[in-house]
Amino acid sequence: MRQYRRYRLKRKYVLRRALLIAAALLLAVGLFALGRWAVGALTAPGPAEPAGPAQPDPAPVDPVEPQAPQLREGDTTVSTPRANIHRGDLILVGSQNAYEFPEQEPYVSVYENKTSSYKVRDRNVRVDEAIVPYLNAMFDEFYAATGVRDVIVVSGERSYDSQKNLYDKYLAEQGEQYVREYVATPGYSEHHSGLAVDLSIYKSDGTMHNYTDEGDYSWIIDNACLYGFVRRYPDDKVAVTGVSYEPWHFRYVGRAHACLMQQRGLCLEEYLELLRQYPYEGEHLIFDDSDGSRYEIYYVEAEAEGETQLPVPQELAYTVSGDNAGGFVVTVKTA
Ligand SMILES: [Zn+2]
Repeated sequence: MRQYRRYRLKRKYVLRRALLIAAALLLAVGLFALGRWAVGALTAPGPAEPAGPAQPDPAPVDPVEPQAPQLREGDTTVSTPRANIHRGDLILVGSQNAYEFPEQEPYVSVYENKTSSYKVRDRNVRVDEAIVPYLNAMFDEFYAATGVRDVIVVSGERSYDSQKNLYDKYLAEQGEQYVREYVATPGYSEHHSGLAVDLSIYKSDGTMHNYTDEGDYSWIIDNACLYGFVRRYPDDKVAVTGVSYEPWHFRYVGRAHACLMQQRGLCLEEYLELLRQYPYEGEHLIFDDSDGSRYEIYYVEAEAEGETQLPVPQELAYTVSGDNAGGFVVTVKTA
């Protein structure tokens, strides 16, 4: 009996040891597999290639010649210098992306070009000439819809010096914390581009009020994308933009892009990141506009130096914008 019990005990002990070893082995294998998976996930290239027929081995190319893109039917290429990544409606200007000041200034006075549906602080407020029609149309429609025309453009394009004056003034008056949150370092302000405006409300009694979305003004944020504008620094994107909530600061990016950003809830930083997932060779980003138009959007990385061969359609209308970082966004109107 005793013998038997000892035997039983011993057997139990052996069994338990075997179980423990098996569990440890399983754990080790599991951890190894998990580690490999995690490494794989970290090193995996962006989006998966679209499923399709296996690509044949590429023909050998002369290593000196830059490889021309495999063109789709109906496309051709246009040559554009790398410097053009700093130009266009979609350029990202911020603490990590300095503005490249152009030799020829495209700015015009808002006062001299605006309709009567809104106000402007003075004759010196300027914006990129190309955005004036959209600014006018937006405030004309806002006035038609609400009967309100007391929105005032208080700031548009700023030179390096005017941003520096502003920066120094706020630094002296409000302190470091304030400028870090609200005032861009000279050279890094989106206002340099002439594509951004700051709005206020100018009441008939002569008082100025901060711009908000309250009451009739909600029309503006609801419809801004139809005129190509976005709120550039939303309250839920502070961690991404690095700029505090600025309800008054609107930026022109073009209708298709503004409406895509609004639909998907993306700020410009996030949107450009998304566009980089749509190279010419792969699937393009499609935008179906509410007016029945359709756009195809793709991203082309710029050559490190010299000219980039941009694939573009021969027959269809398209626009090209740099991202002010390393490439170009091509927007094709396909319908
Ligand atoms: Zn602003």
